[in-house]
Amino acid sequence: MTKSSRSHHGAPGPGDRETFVRESALDVGFSLVGIADLVPDPESGRAFDRWIKAGRHGDMRYLSGGADKRHDPRLLLEGARSAVCVAVNYYSKSKIDRNRSAPSEGKGEVAIYAQGQDYHTVVGDMLGELDRRLKGRFAGMESRIVVDTQPISERDLAIRAGIGWLGKNTCVISPGYGSWIFLGELIINVPLRSDKPLDTLCGSCTACIDACPTGAIVEPFVIDANKCISYLTIEKRGDIPEDYHRSIGSRLFGCDTCQLVCPFNIAATESVLFGARDVNPIIKRPLTELTVIGNEEFEKFTRDSAISRCKPAGMRRNAFITAGNIARHYQRD
Ligand code: SF4
Ligand code: SF4
Repeated sequence: MTKSSRSHHGAPGPGDRETFVRESALDVGFSLVGIADLVPDPESGRAFDRWIKAGRHGDMRYLSGGADKRHDPRLLLEGARSAVCVAVNYYSKSKIDRNRSAPSEGKGEVAIYAQGQDYHTVVGDMLGELDRRLKGRFAGMESRIVVDTQPISERDLAIRAGIGWLGKNTCVISPGYGSWIFLGELIINVPLRSDKPLDTLCGSCTACIDACPTGAIVEPFVIDANKCISYLTIEKRGDIPEDYHRSIGSRLFGCDTCQLVCPFNIAATESVLFGARDVNPIIKRPLTELTVIGNEEFEKFTRDSAISRCKPAGMRRNAFITAGNIARHYQRD
């Protein structure tokens, strides 16, 4: 994995605690590391509450729970003082190319992040190793490992830690890796100096908003999940409203469109961990087979894959929609 220095944070002196944390994280294999304090940010809490109140979270009811921790991440751990925020690059050109050729082979597109091993496992294991190293240095350190596993805004912490800025597509965009990054945090009771947030560099660009096939980016920095193909094909249970079937096109699981068009993603670096060899066998299957895939078979293939999230019924539903769209497209041609 390519490592990235954090020189723009203003270098702490050699041998200090922050330098030890940074060097340990990069040595474990993280692409980026930054430190945030855990003082609640009332404005970000309010923005999230407005989003929930407007029903933009669709059926993801779990997002409306855990408001106390979301507003105050210190509640995750007694005496919590700092978040060590990390990111792992998952960009893979070969996976993007695979999606480009998939429809002509009767296969569906699968979001790049989900094509290989489940990142929760990989990033969680790496954070476990970082945790061991930091505990070896900081006597009495207590910690919580977070990889999409707690009701806190990991995105907000990453932004505060200077991992990247908030893009209009709501992704964290980092210099060097764009938004092709998995996030994770180690919440610890050790006080550390925080890093500074980066400037937002979206400027007047609206490429993600213009490219979204369903108009799901309803205003800069706000996504209506009810319209978002990622949500519809991954999180939504039951039928997908017919209005969206055509727009789903050949997307079987997730959607990368608002990332693919982002100019900061163009110069991304191939991931070693999540590169070409890391491909789940299920996505090599033709859509016709996936429309009737059995529950047990689906579970067997997706045991260590983020694809498991859509459940077997969701996979059959998605394959049915996608196969229909591809068939129509090729008939037309
Ligand atoms: S993931 Fe796809 S559908 Fe969702 S906001 Fe981005 S481009 Fe739109
Ligand atoms: S496409 Fe443009 S507006 Fe959207 S996140 Fe990237 S830089 Fe920002």
